[in-house]
Formats: sequence, structure tokens, C-alpha cells
Amino acid sequence: MAENEIVIYGNPVLREVSQPVEEFDRGLKDLVSALTDTLKKARGLGLSAVQIGVLKRVFIVDLSVVDINESLRVFINPEILETGGDAEFEEGCLSFPGIYQKIHRPDRVKVRAYDLDGQVFELEAGGLIARAIQHEYDHLEGKLFIDHFSPVARSLVKGKLKKLKAAS
Ligand SMILES: [Zn+2]
Repeated sequence: MAENEIVIYGNPVLREVSQPVEEFDRGLKDLVSALTDTLKKARGLGLSAVQIGVLKRVFIVDLSVVDINESLRVFINPEILETGGDAEFEEGCLSFPGIYQKIHRPDRVKVRAYDLDGQVFELEAGGLIARAIQHEYDHLEGKLFIDHFSPVARSLVKGKLKKLKAAS
């Protein structure tokens, strides 16, 4: 097992922009397997490479915890092609333990990405998977879910954020 420590809010790496993957090699497979092991241990729905300290444009989403028809999906060098609609839903993030808030996001997304073998694919999805993809995509841009909070939500979690930052 190659579990990695999850980077917690306060670590400046979370604000960095991740770089495209250029080689679909052994190193990439190892990165995805480290992400997979770390996500499973944390029982989360998604994890991006930057959250284990690797600034590569890679994330995984695994909704099998909540939907038996789902399995782990790997997104390498993803591009969001289209979004539509709007939904409000409670979100958390493994880099923000204990913080959950309802935020608005488009509820449909069309994404293009590469899989582990370097094959390009497109996916159109709605609901929870669309939300998870957008959340993880934000991480690759150095964007965090707290950036989507309303001013009220932000003031509600101010104390918790301070504590996370102080502990990091
Ligand atoms: Zn997150």
C-alpha cells in the first residue's frame, strides 16, 4: 500500500497551478495508485494529485461508496468543455477536515481527459459525479471549495479555517 499524507489547508501548495502530464509512464501509474490507496483509506469521493503534494494535472473520482454502479475513474490532463444548470449541494474536501457547506455549482458537465493508457475520452455527466469532477478540477487550478462559499458561509467557518491553518 502506498498511502500518502493528505495535504491540509494552510499548506501553500494547494494554491499552486498543477502542470500537464507529459509521459504516460510508470511514474504516472505509481501516482494514480498512491492517489487510489490514499482516497480509499480516507473514504473520500475524489482526490487530486496536488492533495498529496504532486503538482500534476491528475485526479480520481470514486463514487462507488455511494453508488454501487460506479467505479473509480481517472482523469489526466482534464479539460472542462461545457457546464450547464445550477445546483446547491453540501460539499466537503479531504484537505478541510470537519468543514462542510452548501455551495452552488453547475449541475452538468462535459469533460475531456486522458486515461492511464493515454487514451482520450469524453464524459458528459450530471449530479454528484459532475460536482466531484468540478471540485477536483478546481484543485488543479489552485482553486478551493471555500472560494465558492457565500460571505455568510465563510464567516461560519472562519474559526475552523484558522485552526486548520495554525495546525498545518
Ligand atoms: Zn477537495
